[in-house]
Amino acid sequence: MIYGLDAAEFVDRVVTVDYVGRGVVKSLYAAARKLADGPLCGRAAELLSEASVVAVATGFPILRFGGAPESDGLLSSVLFPRWLEARGGCAVIFVDEGFEKVAEVGLKAAGAKTSTLIKVSRGVGEETLTSLVVETGADLLVAVERPGANKHGQYHNSVGENITAYTAPLDKVFEKLSRLGKPFIAFGDGGNEAGMGLIKDAVEMHVPHGEVCICPCSGGIASTTSATHLVTASISDLGFYGAMALADIQAYRQTLKNMHHAAEALFAAGCVDAFRGPNNLGVDGLGIDAVEAVAAILARIAAREK
Ligand SMILES: [Zn+2]
Repeated sequence: MIYGLDAAEFVDRVVTVDYVGRGVVKSLYAAARKLADGPLCGRAAELLSEASVVAVATGFPILRFGGAPESDGLLSSVLFPRWLEARGGCAVIFVDEGFEKVAEVGLKAAGAKTSTLIKVSRGVGEETLTSLVVETGADLLVAVERPGANKHGQYHNSVGENITAYTAPLDKVFEKLSRLGKPFIAFGDGGNEAGMGLIKDAVEMHVPHGEVCICPCSGGIASTTSATHLVTASISDLGFYGAMALADIQAYRQTLKNMHHAAEALFAAGCVDAFRGPNNLGVDGLGIDAVEAVAAILARIAAREK
């Protein structure tokens, strides 16, 4: 216990501090927490602990920066294989066509050795995509900052613009496989990501454009795809770090050492901060030094209980 909180509860508090003032994390966390038996990162950690081959879907295009991939989601997704490999497992990262070079460079910088990358071509059908995911032999599915389809099957960014042309339906495929029994953890922060369908009402009520987007579909940005377990954080990556820290602190500490280098590699390859654009190393407006500091706090919390 630290300040009267167990480690998992404390981790949830740290990853739901509204570091950049977006104003939605409290409502989304409250809604997601109602669906879980305990702290959200703690439950995700339990699922991660049991996994050996993990399929990860990530990659969000930022239209105002020419459709470049944002750092949130990608950074934790390229670090996660390093974490999993330290435990004897391996990951398969799925990204949309156009993001594969960035992801590949990031994986290498993060120190991944045996994990692999799959580029999903534009316009690929759900059946083909399902086969691709099943063929990985994954025993766990993870989506982090991965677009989620709205009620009309359309994908949107946080300002309500349509990004369907950039986005393969990995959220729907993961959802379908989770209904067939494959555990699926979704990490999100804005309500338009995979897994947020579990708290769609809260997203529509509290997130700008949740109910009404600015594209002709007019269905809002609220995602309708579900997951086995949803983790809402102020920044999606932070939820993933919290879960990794709780599941295996030693592997997490090793992984953290590569965060700065991985971020530099991602940005050099064309990744952008969703709020501050290219050349501003960071995630969702939070500079990389601050991200590293929060990630280090998570390590200290997770280590104290053991
Ligand atoms: Zn729309």
